[in-house]
Formats: sequence, C-alpha cells, structure tokens
Amino acid sequence: MKMSDFTIFPVDDPEQKIRLNRFFMGVGAHAMNAVFVFLCWAMGYLDRHVVAIYLVLALALNASVYLMLRSGLNKRFSDPSLTFLQISLAALPGLYSMYFAGDARGTFLLLGLAMFVFGMFRFKTREFVALALVILVGYGMLIALLLVFHADEIKLKMELLQWMAYAVTLMQLSFLAGFIRNLRSTLHDKAQQLAAQNVELESALQRIGDLAVRDELTGVYNRRYLMERISEETLRCVRSGSVFCICMIDIDFFKKVNDTYGHLVGDDILRAVASTASSALRQTDCFGRFGGEEFLMLLTDTPLEGAMITAERVRYSIESLCFPEIDQRLRVTVSIGVAEHIRKTEPNATIKLADEALYRAKENGRNQCLAAPSS
Ligand code: GH3
Ligand code: MG
Ligand code: MG
Repeated sequence: MKMSDFTIFPVDDPEQKIRLNRFFMGVGAHAMNAVFVFLCWAMGYLDRHVVAIYLVLALALNASVYLMLRSGLNKRFSDPSLTFLQISLAALPGLYSMYFAGDARGTFLLLGLAMFVFGMFRFKTREFVALALVILVGYGMLIALLLVFHADEIKLKMELLQWMAYAVTLMQLSFLAGFIRNLRSTLHDKAQQLAAQNVELESALQRIGDLAVRDELTGVYNRRYLMERISEETLRCVRSGSVFCICMIDIDFFKKVNDTYGHLVGDDILRAVASTASSALRQTDCFGRFGGEEFLMLLTDTPLEGAMITAERVRYSIESLCFPEIDQRLRVTVSIGVAEHIRKTEPNATIKLADEALYRAKENGRNQCLAAPSS
C-alpha cells in the first residue's frame, strides 16, 4: 500500500471502524490521564523524567494497539476489539508513575477505577474479575517493589489498607458489571423479540389490507375496492378531462358448469377466468370480482374504441382457455358490456350502461363484447 492510500480508519470495513472508534475513545481517556500526570509533575509529586517515560510508554502502547487494529491482526483474537488487552495495557504507564508518586500514589487508584468502568459495558463477569486481578496484582507488585527498594518512603499499613479498599471496590463493581450485562442482554433479547414481532405485525397488516381489498376466492380486487377506484377515477375525470371505460364481464352459462362439474370445479374456473383476465390488462387498469360470476374492468385513460379492443382481447383469452384436468371439451366463454364514462355523471350510471350492454350481448348470443351507445 502506498503512503498516500493510507487512511486512519479503514474505508471498507465497518466493524473495524467501530473498533477503531472505541480505541480512539480509549486514547482520549489516556490523554486525560496524561493531563493528571502533568499536574502531579507541576505540583512536585513527579519528576519530569518519570513524566517523559510515562508519555513514551503510553504512546508506544497506544501505537502498538492501533497498528494491531489497523493491520487487521486483531481479527485473529477471540475478542477482535482487544478491549481486555487495551484496558490491562493501559494500567502499565499508570502503575509506572504510581511507583514514583509518593504521597500522591493513592490518587492514581481513582484513575484505575475509571478504566475499569470502561470495561463495564463489554466484559463478561469472568473477564471483569480477570481485569480486577490484573490491576490488584499490579498494585500488589508495586507495593512489594516499593518495600524492597524504597522501604523508607512507604507507609505499608496505609498502602495495604488502600489495596484492600481497592479490592473490595473492584469486587462490587464486578457484581454491578454482571448486573449491567444481564440488563443489556435482556434489552438486546427484548429488542430482537420486538423486531420479530414488528415483522409479524407488518405481514399481518399487509394481510388485513389485502383482505380488505381482495376477493377471497379469486385473489383479484373486490367490489368495495372497485367502487372506490371508480369514484376516484370519476373525480379525476372531472379535474383532468381524461376518459375511462367500465367493462362488465359475465361468464356464459355458468350455472350449467356448476351443475355439470360441481361447485368446487366452478370455483376453479372462476379463479382461472380471473387470473387470465387480469394478466391481459395494463398496470394502470383495475380488474376485480363484482359478485358471483361477474367481473368488472376499469380501464383508465381509455376511450370506448380502446376499451373494446381490450375487452375483445380478454374475451378471446378466456375463450382459448383449456381445462384438460376437468374435461378436454370444456370451454368457458364470457360476454362483456363496455361503457365509456360520461363526464359529470354518477359512477353508477356508467356501471348501469355497461350492465345494459352486457345484457344485450347475452341476448345477441353470448361470447361477445358490446359497447353501450355513447352520448
Ligand atoms: P348467463 O350466460 O345468462 O350468465 O348464464 P349463467 O348460468 O351464468 O347465469 P346465472 O346468473 O343464472 O347463474 C350464475 C351462476 O353462477 C349461478 C351460481 O351458482 C354461480 N356462482 C355464483 N357465484 C359463484 C361462486 O362463487 N362459485 C361458484 N362455483 N359458482 C358461483
Ligand atoms: Mg351473472
Ligand atoms: Mg353468467
């Protein structure tokens, strides 16, 4: 990779980006600790060499963690976020400066607590206890080293008391962390449950919506929906001056089909007719079951001549249907009455016109399309 291609965050790996974001939060915490170390120096508790070494240590540790995260080496670990490693490594420069902090030593323990709280939202109780041990063992070793090399500077009783207070505090925090973790996982489960319920609700709503507008037997639109669409189209017609047609379709001698083959076969034929007719239409047209073996087509932006062509196409496609599984000889035909809507009249008037044309088509011998006289 060229240097010019380098970016602080990976561009194409959102998970690593989140991890690096968390790492930089940790760097922020380090920076605040560094300010405290500077204060200790300013108040005469720490030597400037100690501050310099603290800074070098902190920088080196952060740089190594950054390289691990940015190079992808972290993905080989069981926790690719390296949270445990980051928090326990962060203790090192702290322990180092504590060693030299004299009377200010105890104050560093508070910084350690903040670090601990960082882990609170990610660790399992086991990891938390491990971290507490790392910190307590580190602090214990620090006391031991002080005892060996600076026995005159250390108030052992006080130091041990602090160690114990720290141990008790960390233990309580570990329990609290376990509690928070449980809460988080309950929340997580609840959120997942809610998401699943939402999906179910959405599909139930979709179903209810479908039931409200669809005919149960054939799946095409029902009469209520057809009437709504016709009313809308009537209003649109007044506003925009467009035209629309209504076609009434009625299956010929359907009673005979039922009588010959039974009602269930009759239902199958109704379904076949409905799907054949609706697939012969444009997306903007609307087809539905008006009732019984009657269907209605609403052809938007279509004058009578165009509607007759469409009606004829539908009539022909139904006439061409075969039902080999029922009876090789069975043919189903429809009669269709077509009417163009006359502007400023009621929707029912157009339906009536189409109905009358249908009636005449039946009288004329069925299996045909007839137009209502246009004004
Ligand atoms: P025409 O050519 O004059 O329309 O004759 P037809 O037999 O189709 O007319 P008629 O109105 O006398 O009969 C309609 C039949 O449609 C009667 C009824 O049993 C049948 N039908 C109505 N709804 C359904 C349904 O949902 N399923 C079935 N299988 N049959 C139905
Ligand atoms: Mg009928
Ligand atoms: Mg009929």
